[in-house]
Amino acid sequence: MKRIVILSLLVAGMLAGCSQPAPSDTTSSSAAQAAGPVTTATPAPTATPAPTAEPTPTPQPEPEIETVDGVTYINGILIANKTYSLPADYAPGVDATAEAAFNEMAQAAAAEGLNIYISSSFRSYEYQDRIYNNYVARDGQAAADTYSARPGHSEHQTGLAFDLNTIDDSFAATPEAAWVAEHAHEYGFIIRYPADKESITGYKYEPWHIRYLGVETATDVYESGLCLEEYLDITSIYAE
Ligand SMILES: [Zn+2]
Repeated sequence: MKRIVILSLLVAGMLAGCSQPAPSDTTSSSAAQAAGPVTTATPAPTATPAPTAEPTPTPQPEPEIETVDGVTYINGILIANKTYSLPADYAPGVDATAEAAFNEMAQAAAAEGLNIYISSSFRSYEYQDRIYNNYVARDGQAAADTYSARPGHSEHQTGLAFDLNTIDDSFAATPEAAWVAEHAHEYGFIIRYPADKESITGYKYEPWHIRYLGVETATDVYESGLCLEEYLDITSIYAE
């Protein structure tokens, strides 16, 4: 896989090099072109009999990472996880679009006799700092890191994440949790920390924590069966 990526990059680089007219020094580019085929042509065909037999698998496009005022967007999606942090002064409050989408979702649930409500939404850096350090004092840092974000790393600081109802494991067994798991994407939300994705998201299963992505992206993520890190091909790991 890696080899194919490198090869295709090389090919892309070569193509790019070919398509661009050498601005000043024509001798060096022609020398490079002459040197290129000689080194690659000799060992490859004899060593591997059928290099053409490997069809290039649809290459996973590299995630497009953009940082605006310290806030990271990956393929246009704002990301706060263990790898990507937010500035301490980033305090947008609850996102109005996400809140409206939640209200719509809550109404739909209510129509089926279910009660879903927001128990925690936007949290400032300072507030997250307090609660995280309380958890560290209580359970130790290693344990705290499995369920509480360090300040600057909480998705709640984005204003796009909501914790629903009881915010504990008992929620998973409620009809509300089942309904949310099945329908959240229809309103633009995903269950951000799914079961059995703990080693990838960096957090244990949180059936109550939803993240707003918009209907199109949320549905795409939902149907992929991937967690957001897998979907974007990114990590969630603290630097230290
Ligand atoms: Zn949460």
